[in-house]
Amino acid sequence: MGVAGGYNIIISILFAFAAGTCAGSFINAAAMRTVAEKKWWGSERSVCDKCGHVLGSLDLVPIASYVLLGGKCRYCKTPIKPRHFVAEMVSGILSAALFWRWGFSAAFGMSLIVLWFSLFNSLTDFDNGYIYDIWALAPGVIGLLVRVSGGWPAIISGLLGAALGFGFIALIIIVSRGGMGWGDAMLMAGIGAAVGWKYCAFGLYVGFLVGGIVVVPLMLAKKLKRKDAVPLGPFLAIGSVTVLFIGDALVRRFGGLMGGVYPGWPWG
Ligand SMILES: [Zn+2]
Repeated sequence: MGVAGGYNIIISILFAFAAGTCAGSFINAAAMRTVAEKKWWGSERSVCDKCGHVLGSLDLVPIASYVLLGGKCRYCKTPIKPRHFVAEMVSGILSAALFWRWGFSAAFGMSLIVLWFSLFNSLTDFDNGYIYDIWALAPGVIGLLVRVSGGWPAIISGLLGAALGFGFIALIIIVSRGGMGWGDAMLMAGIGAAVGWKYCAFGLYVGFLVGGIVVVPLMLAKKLKRKDAVPLGPFLAIGSVTVLFIGDALVRRFGGLMGGVYPGWPWG
């Protein structure tokens, strides 16, 4: 690759990072407004969580405003909740990393759909333990529309992914009598329809693995009781987003067990 090509890649990755931080800022605000049962847009302006001062455009630049203001509100000096900064950084870094992974492609577009909706649903699940059906299923509806351009095998893989994601969590709900919520089942139905059944299977596996690594020690240390409600959506989201990076390696490793010809992601 020539020097010009190298620069183009770097500029593209930086652009993906910047766009990702803006998306993260919007997703975070939209999640907070959804939980507060407020409208996303219209006359409603962004205000300081504490003093209610209407925020100007200089207060709303992702990452930069938080850093330049020292993490404090310009008007009342109250520390800004770190979740704003964290959501922007997570979205920015992962959007850039997904561009690095997939380049300009249908796979990159599908990855962003999964990443951004996963972030939104994780934030509402953190806030009030609730995953909203419409926002859980939205990536699946968009994903299936994208899959139309991949032909019948791509559409069928998406439908099987929705059935697998929903069915697997539903089985756990029925067997464990409430260990997980129906919001988690909707979440995996939406993600499964977008990513297809193979990535969905691996996403469930990685999600439960990460969830177990975090939750079991907390239970053993008696910080958590068995009946405590732990938001599990974020772990499923982490699993699904992880597979956007390592899914093809996993399919190559275990593909023989899954049968059929693998057309490559996102269609497979
Ligand atoms: Zn303030």
